[in-house]
Amino acid sequence: QVKDSGRNGYRFFDSSMSHGVQRKLLMDSRLRKALNNNELELHYQPIVELASGKIIAVEALMRWHDAELGFVSPTEFIPLAERTGVINQLGEQALRQACINAQAWQSIAPISVAVNFSSVQFRQCEPLLMKIERILSSTGLDPKRLDIEVTESLLISESGELRQTLQQLQALGPQLSIDDFGTGYSALSYLQRFSFNKLKIDRSFLQHMEHNEPDQALVKAILAMAAALDLKVVAEGIEAQWQADFLTKHQCQFGQGYLYSKPLPAEEFEALLRQQTPL
Ligand code: C2E
Ligand code: MG
Ligand code: MG
Ligand code: MG
Repeated sequence: QVKDSGRNGYRFFDSSMSHGVQRKLLMDSRLRKALNNNELELHYQPIVELASGKIIAVEALMRWHDAELGFVSPTEFIPLAERTGVINQLGEQALRQACINAQAWQSIAPISVAVNFSSVQFRQCEPLLMKIERILSSTGLDPKRLDIEVTESLLISESGELRQTLQQLQALGPQLSIDDFGTGYSALSYLQRFSFNKLKIDRSFLQHMEHNEPDQALVKAILAMAAALDLKVVAEGIEAQWQADFLTKHQCQFGQGYLYSKPLPAEEFEALLRQQTPL
């Protein structure tokens, strides 16, 4: 921290910051290259019916291993892709790959595939809608088997156009899920104005629930509200049996988390699906 005599007053010198900026610049160019070379890969995490443990759906999650940067978490490269705009290309690749795999898996079991969509992708509503329609028809996946996951951040600046787009999307067949429920800053009234099919309880609510009355009350309240609004619920981040027991006891039907499986490469997920499905 050095006092600068210039007009800007103080200037901060921080070696870790410049390193961070360098890493971002490198990451940006490596990510564009990886997208152009189709180097990103989806992993698949089972979504189970809690009562039976049966896989009823799967969430597609992007994975990126870069030769120079090593493994980069989506919590790092997704926000970067959103800032630079390459999220549109990334999202399209994710959707196409997820639909191709899910279509192939229909011969094993009638599972749905959940794909994450960034709010940024909805800035161009009309092209997005057409892209989704095109990918569904070219891959042959039954549109009813696609779950589109969006976060509350999409609904903050809600417009008539967005509402119409989401309706048109559902008219094509896909289900709409609200991801990371409860962590955004949207007013709950969006639940009346949009017709979501599913709500995913963020794992932060489950984490400290044991011996924690207020957290348990909150999860129970979310489940009661979802039931009243006729929304299906998926609990995210189930790691322990007591969490699954609590959720089942309070009528939560579906869940995903390390207790059941981590996200897996496509072939490993397929093997797991075959294993639980009698021939
Ligand atoms: P998300 O959509 O909420 O996905 C769930 C995240 O929780 C995944 O992290 C998953 O690996 C992790 N998870 C699942 N079960 C457990 C558990 O029991 N314990 C713990 N600690 N974690 C668990 P991941 O794969 O790192 O992805 C992070 C986020 O990145 C996703 O959160 C999603 O918002 C975003 N993301 C990933 N792939 C895509 C994509 O293709 N497109 C977009 N737009 N976003 C993506
Ligand atoms: Mg998700
Ligand atoms: Mg989530
Ligand atoms: Mg998340």
